[in-house]
Amino acid sequence: MHATPRDYTLPEGCPVCSADLPVRITAAGANGVCKHCGWFGRPLVTVTHQGLRVTYEGAQA
Ligand SMILES: [Zn+2]
Repeated sequence: MHATPRDYTLPEGCPVCSADLPVRITAAGANGVCKHCGWFGRPLVTVTHQGLRVTYEGAQA
């Protein structure tokens, strides 16, 4: 399976301002940076039968 796209835009994916969130998938994982508010993080992207499932790690306490 070589069809895995490496760049996504998650509609309203920013957890801070709900703007579209560009996410790039790399060998090291996913990195998302919000162009709108500057939030960045490492969303966890999992491919499911329903599509992409994106979760965010909570802030490390
Ligand atoms: Zn944002």
